[in-house]
Amino acid sequence: MIGMKDSLVRFDQLIREIAAKEESRLRFKANVLVVSEIAQQYYCEKKVEMNRTHGEEETFEMKLGKEAHELLLKETVKVKREELWRKIYSGKPVAAREMLLLGKHNGVIIAGVADAVVFYGGFPIFLFEHKFSNKQVPFIDHHVQAELYCYLLHLMGWDTSKLKYALVIAPPKCRDDKELRKISSYVLQQPREEKLRVKLQTGNANIYINGFDMRKTINELDWALGFWTQERPAKPTTKIGKCAACQQFKEICESSLLRSFNLNRNTSLEVL
Ligand code: SF4
Repeated sequence: MIGMKDSLVRFDQLIREIAAKEESRLRFKANVLVVSEIAQQYYCEKKVEMNRTHGEEETFEMKLGKEAHELLLKETVKVKREELWRKIYSGKPVAAREMLLLGKHNGVIIAGVADAVVFYGGFPIFLFEHKFSNKQVPFIDHHVQAELYCYLLHLMGWDTSKLKYALVIAPPKCRDDKELRKISSYVLQQPREEKLRVKLQTGNANIYINGFDMRKTINELDWALGFWTQERPAKPTTKIGKCAACQQFKEICESSLLRSFNLNRNTSLEVL
């Protein structure tokens, strides 16, 4: 674990690199990779590629590039960040919501915004990631996303040996439920690795508590980086249900599994 000053210097250095926008060796000339997009590679990597080639919306990476100057130079932003770091390093319990996390792995800058991180004793002990879906089970991309946030906390210099992460999955109608805010204190009271079910005002949330395994996370990240460093082409999903649900690209994607199946009109496909 490194000290507060070194951690802030490390953070500022990465912001500086993002702002400098140097020529990138990565696919699509990306100079920073975003955790949510890396996690989507585990849903369908072909879709990630097609989003990049067909998407027009401003990506988080573009936004971060624009905001890097503000993050770096605006005194108020800097002061706020230093205040948060000071609170964390004081050892008192701190719940940081929507915290920007940055790290460098094998020369590639990775960024992400974690829903909530709870620090205690000067290091992170719990990370919370919220998902809203009627299928209240976690999928591999949900785990990868939370694990990468945990790994970024390690890269930022914190001791993550006691870190756990909780995937909180609630139906979409619970999105504005005030009870969601109380979940972190509920989980902290019983932090065993297990599944919990919590009653909210508007429905029930499932909570899946997991230990952070750094080796596993690095392997997942290295696999994902193989696409960005152009060592291999995009890997399409092997699940036909995902192609059936892929509104944007199912008609134009050359890897769509629907092309090889003559679907019966009455067939309903589950996204697995
Ligand atoms: S159609 Fe299927 S393979 Fe193609 S991007 Fe969509 S989900 Fe992926």
